[in-house]
Amino acid sequence: MARHALITGITGQDGAYLAKNLLEKGYVVWGLVRRSSHFGIADHRLRWLGIEKDVRYCDANLTDLSSLIRAVEMAKPDEAYNLGAQSYVASSWQQPILTSNVTGVGAANVLEAIRIVSPSTRFYQASSSEMFGLIQEAHQSEKTPFYPRSPYGVAKLFAHWMTVNYRESFNLHASSGILFNHESPLRGIEFVTRKVTDGVARIKLGLANELRLGNIDAKRDWGHARDYVEAMWLMLQQDKPDDYVVATGKTTSVRDMVKIAFEYVQMNMDDHLVIDPELFRPAEVDILLGDASKARAALGWEPKTGLEDMIREMVDADIERHMRA
Ligand code: NDP
Ligand code: GDP
Repeated sequence: MARHALITGITGQDGAYLAKNLLEKGYVVWGLVRRSSHFGIADHRLRWLGIEKDVRYCDANLTDLSSLIRAVEMAKPDEAYNLGAQSYVASSWQQPILTSNVTGVGAANVLEAIRIVSPSTRFYQASSSEMFGLIQEAHQSEKTPFYPRSPYGVAKLFAHWMTVNYRESFNLHASSGILFNHESPLRGIEFVTRKVTDGVARIKLGLANELRLGNIDAKRDWGHARDYVEAMWLMLQQDKPDDYVVATGKTTSVRDMVKIAFEYVQMNMDDHLVIDPELFRPAEVDILLGDASKARAALGWEPKTGLEDMIREMVDADIERHMRA
């Protein structure tokens, strides 16, 4: 019998890659999709991967517990991956209440739906390195104290502790993956890597002349989404639920990442980069650097794609998109 998986956030970057990964493993994949007036647009990432017809869909919203209960009843999932969120840090200062409701309370709603309908379902929570925020240790591991620096980070911390609490209170197989930034050609265009690769593609093709960025001194531990969704699945295959950091163990400044992208198309970043003070954030996460030794040892997980290869893949994909348009 094929196993069933339910993915909230299936229309996002990770949801699309995870759906592909699970379909390849023989799962029946159910995706939660929220109703929108933009019919036929929400599944663009699934179409890019060529899997939009292979997924079964449930109409539900993370803020509506009854819709989640129906989704769990319909999918009867062996595994549920809660990837849905208002996931953009900068927007979380503009919409702090919505971010709390979707990114924080939304996770509690999914846990409740599982506890009520199907307590044997294994649960994955998409936690984030943003919970470390103002870092308390140079290398952040599962043992590092949290200090979130945005409404998004605070909401993720609530969801993380609810996951731990439901594991301890109700014996749910609930795991939390504390994933560091991960990117791909399917990353939302507002995030810095994709903004850069799209901007470089436009400049290369003569469609734009400048790239406006904020704090290019910030440093991130960037991996590839395709590699990171495998870690999510591995967590749910363990006998015992647990928390795991997933990261590459290398940190790079935004400035150096931009340089990689411009150098790939043989252009000089200083001719096009404009620093825009409007793009600085009210509170910044200056540096993130993950220690994924627990995931390596317990899950046998390793990142496969380096930053340079990933940025090149993203620039190529953006150039192709603009040439087709
Ligand atoms: P995306 O922003 O690409 O995807 C977010 C998904 O959540 C979309 O499918 C979106 O649907 C859905 N969603 C938003 N609001 C609701 C709602 N009210 N009800 C139901 N679904 C909703 O995020 P990523 O794929 O990059 O990330 C996946 C998860 O991992 C997120 O929780 C994110 O916060 C977390 N994370 C991501 C990291 C990264 O570097 N990518 C790092 C660490 C954690 P729609 O398409 O309709 O907007
Ligand atoms: P985050 O780590 O989840 O906030 O991911 P982002 O990709 O949105 O941002 C990563 C870092 O890049 C943050 O420190 C931002 O302040 C910095 N950054 C600098 N300029 C920009 C920009 O124009 N857009 C975004 N999204 N981030 C920027």
